Amino acid sequence: MFPAADGLLVAVMTDPSRPALSVVAPCYNEQDVLHEFLRRVGAVLDAIGGTSEIVLVDDGSRDRTWEIMAAAATADPRVVAVRLMRNHGHQLALTAGLSICRGERILIIDADLQDPPELLPDMMALMDGSDGKGGADVVYGQRRQRHGESLFKRATAAAFYRLIDRVTDVDIPADAGDFRLVTRRVLDLLLAMPERHRFIRGMVAWIGGHQVPLLYDRHARAAGESKYPLKKMIRFAADAITAFSVVPLMASMTIGWIMALVGFGFFVYSMIGWLMNANLPGWTSIMAAMGLLGGMQFLMLGIIGAYLGRLYDQSKGRPLFMIRDIVGGPK
Ligand code: UDP
Ligand code: MG
Repeated sequence: MFPAADGLLVAVMTDPSRPALSVVAPCYNEQDVLHEFLRRVGAVLDAIGGTSEIVLVDDGSRDRTWEIMAAAATADPRVVAVRLMRNHGHQLALTAGLSICRGERILIIDADLQDPPELLPDMMALMDGSDGKGGADVVYGQRRQRHGESLFKRATAAAFYRLIDRVTDVDIPADAGDFRLVTRRVLDLLLAMPERHRFIRGMVAWIGGHQVPLLYDRHARAAGESKYPLKKMIRFAADAITAFSVVPLMASMTIGWIMALVGFGFFVYSMIGWLMNANLPGWTSIMAAMGLLGGMQFLMLGIIGAYLGRLYDQSKGRPLFMIRDIVGGPK
């Protein structure tokens, strides 16, 4: 049914029977919301009409998530259920679903109904060009308000998006999650990026093209609880920052310059003391050596950081440029 999956990222062969729309949702211990999710997404897809599929990825759940989705896939030819070997985390589970889905347009959505699937027709219209600016490559949900989330979650999320904006040079929209509609072209570009530590919303922003926000209110979870404890949130933030910024790596360079200057100051100061015979014997050489060596070490570390940062960027192996359109030229 699907091309053989022999890696994390599987390129999907062009398939003439491609559905017009895929809905992809990663699910981790979501037994309490799955029925409702399928009902609401199903209703939206029925209203839109055309061919579609719903790809559910079970990210190593320990509850009845898999049983429910497997039964749904048996009963409804539109549903595709995918089970991962173990818990890979939200972003990789989503990547698995994205590499298996076959639609011309792909809706990425959480299974917990925090993001209303009923926005899909508006997203489709924006993608068709209802804003009068030509069709969009990406329509991303941008949260106007977040209901039913703790103050802590909202505050850390706000701080996270501000930090990301400061340290990265990609324009990653604030207050937008992975809830978005993307074209097949954008998805194929996304899947061509081989990096393991994926920050998908940032990678989609990095692809560019015409990306349009759709403002919405984020709801409380329909049932169950957040699968993002603090530890996962911190790891997610670290992945996001290191995938899009070498600022932390460069920080040692800044510290190095400051330390080198301070060290040089110490060196001069101890030399003056020595010339004026005001130093304890032995103090001068120790202070001078410490100051200079300490400063130089940090500086050298900083330089290594600068090279390593570029090497790291290169080793990600992303495409150098991506063509959106070509007009004219050989037919
Ligand atoms: N999820 C997943 N694997 C994980 C954690 C979460 O597939 O290890 C899924 C989860 O089932 C949900 C989505 O990712 O569909 C977002 O997770 P959650 O709603 O718990 O995060 P929050 O909205 O609280 O940030
Ligand atoms: Mg959620």
